[in-house]
Amino acid sequence: MTTMTEQHDRRSLALELIRRKLRTPIIHLHTQIPLADIRDWYREIHGRSPSSGLLPSMSTLLPNRNSHIYVSLFAAIYRRVGGKKVLQVIDIHAVMEAWDLFSTLTRHVRRKRPADLTEAWVIARAMRAKTATMHRCSKCASSYLVAGDSKLPPACPICFAVRQVGKSGRSNKVMKRSRLR
Ligand SMILES: [Zn+2]
Repeated sequence: MTTMTEQHDRRSLALELIRRKLRTPIIHLHTQIPLADIRDWYREIHGRSPSSGLLPSMSTLLPNRNSHIYVSLFAAIYRRVGGKKVLQVIDIHAVMEAWDLFSTLTRHVRRKRPADLTEAWVIARAMRAKTATMHRCSKCASSYLVAGDSKLPPACPICFAVRQVGKSGRSNKVMKRSRLR
């Protein structure tokens, strides 16, 4: 039997998740509130029906090295907020808190992954299922996520970015030198 307090907590969690536009079946999964009610509240809050369709895969979230940096940043924040237990269960409160912090930190970045709370939840699910695991780079000590179904090589995205900047920096110097001649 659920108590009044439990019911209230579930409802307020559902509203928080709806405000952040999490997919409604996921809200149902974490709150057990009937899907029809969640959909009604969603329409009331956002003035339109919730989106449907397939959830994105980890490979969709990791189309390039740039996304790898941001996905890894989200994963590191989530791991820090939720602690060790996020490797056993999806902590929806930690997903939400990590998403809010990630959004604040990256608010000036226009195109990034995860792009919304649903994508953030997909990362949390992959970490729980251990289809995505955190690694620590032996060169720069950064934490990064390696996803089994990603086409990206399982290497540190920070070291890759530094190498790329290094290359373009060197070519700029060469160009400047050639212009001086
Ligand atoms: Zn590195």
